[in-house]
Amino acid sequence: MTVFKKSIKITSQSKFQIINITQSINEIVNESHIKEGIISIFSKHSTTAICINEDEIGLKEDFKTFIEKLVPNDKYKHDFIDNNAKSHLKSFLLSSSETIPITNGRMELGTWQSVFFVELDGPRTNRTIVITVVGE
Ligand code: ZN
Repeated sequence: MTVFKKSIKITSQSKFQIINITQSINEIVNESHIKEGIISIFSKHSTTAICINEDEIGLKEDFKTFIEKLVPNDKYKHDFIDNNAKSHLKSFLLSSSETIPITNGRMELGTWQSVFFVELDGPRTNRTIVITVVGE
């Protein structure tokens, strides 16, 4: 069994941004030479998320609208410290990682699935994602 680990850095351009990172992850899977196993994609931040869904422009706008409705403007305690409570609360609702099977040397995603890094408190530089490929 092999463990192949690599980090990537992401720069976001706006407060809320859905960034398709599937191609970067595919390159890491190729680099790992692992044919059968699993991959973990983990974001090291409390105001971001990793999600899998369809890369369709209308749907991405819908998701932004939906998540805004779930976390309304309000007085939040964390805002007295950091003024970004809403970004943390959105991150609480989502996930900081995803796990995907590796089959025949490729992520076994469905036809309409992409891997997204979701920025919830941008714009930021140096967002770090840790990718771990385990298998053989
Ligand atoms: Zn904060």
